[in-house]
Amino acid sequence: MSPIDEEQLQGLQGVRDFLRIRTSYDVLPLSFRLIVLDNDLLIRKSLNILIQNNIVSAPLWDSHNGRFAGLLTSTDFINVIQYYNQFPEQIDNVEKFRLSSLRDIEKAINVQTLETVSVHPGRPLYEACSRMLRSRARRIPLVDVDDETGRETVVSVITQYRILKFIAVNTEQHTSLMKKTIREINLGTYTDLATCKMTDSVLDVINSMVVRNISAVPVIDKNNVVLNVFEAVDVIPCIKGGAYEELKSTVGEALAQRPEDFPGIYTCQEDDRLDSIFQTVRQSRVHRLVVIDDDWHLKGILSLSDILKYVLFHGEEGEYFPQT
Ligand code: ATP
Repeated sequence: MSPIDEEQLQGLQGVRDFLRIRTSYDVLPLSFRLIVLDNDLLIRKSLNILIQNNIVSAPLWDSHNGRFAGLLTSTDFINVIQYYNQFPEQIDNVEKFRLSSLRDIEKAINVQTLETVSVHPGRPLYEACSRMLRSRARRIPLVDVDDETGRETVVSVITQYRILKFIAVNTEQHTSLMKKTIREINLGTYTDLATCKMTDSVLDVINSMVVRNISAVPVIDKNNVVLNVFEAVDVIPCIKGGAYEELKSTVGEALAQRPEDFPGIYTCQEDDRLDSIFQTVRQSRVHRLVVIDDDWHLKGILSLSDILKYVLFHGEEGEYFPQT
């Protein structure tokens, strides 16, 4: 094994050991707010609450049984849009749907129902990460159980973003050993990329996100130059106030509705080393990186799950579990 390989493995091992001795509690900020939505709430209203509070997801609570009932994310709204498209005659009912109907909507449009995995906040962070990655969830709720009453409490939700940031900020001595380039470790997706044009309709892009089970699509021009990235969360302002018709608008029009504090998109190149990717994660609000060449041509996409999977499982037995 070359010295650079050895160092890389040493770095990976260091991060894994760190994740095993830390718990999910450690990732949480000292003080935070958590908005939990009742499962009986109308979907339409839940959308307004997300927008008003400037959040993109929330845990659901089943008040009849006093239990955690899953997570509401932008994917759920995308599913409602799909439902409306497949069953236009149901538009009046769509208005009346409650959050508890989301699972029926998934069944009706035939999308894979996500397992509602959760983890106890006191368990090792490594466990929260691997459960999240294996279930293909992008965030995992921390659910505690009261010893006396046996009732569940949703403590918080941790995301891939927050975990990767936590790793980047706290384990620089280990991540700085990861000097292999993303090309050398084959990190990210480079073939069969889903892309779109500024003039494509939002609806078409949503379709490709649902079919491919992805949450971001690079926007390119006719020369394959990257102009922007359309993200699943960009759908939320489009359907504000139940304006499902607005989805006929173009990607360009939808992107113009982004909030002023939108952090922008992040790029990298195939010759960038993993330690420099961690540096970007440490310093910025990165949700994915678009891999480009010197002239901004699209080469690939590097998602947070790609990075986390590599960090957790590379070189381990059964490294890459089947993608379901
Ligand atoms: P999130 O972006 O919400 O954090 P994630 O990290 O799982 O979620 P996804 O965008 O869902 O990212 O990516 C899942 C897999 O699909 C990754 O391996 C990623 O490289 C790949 N992928 C992401 N976007 C595209 C795309 N536009 N075309 C092809 N593959 C993609």
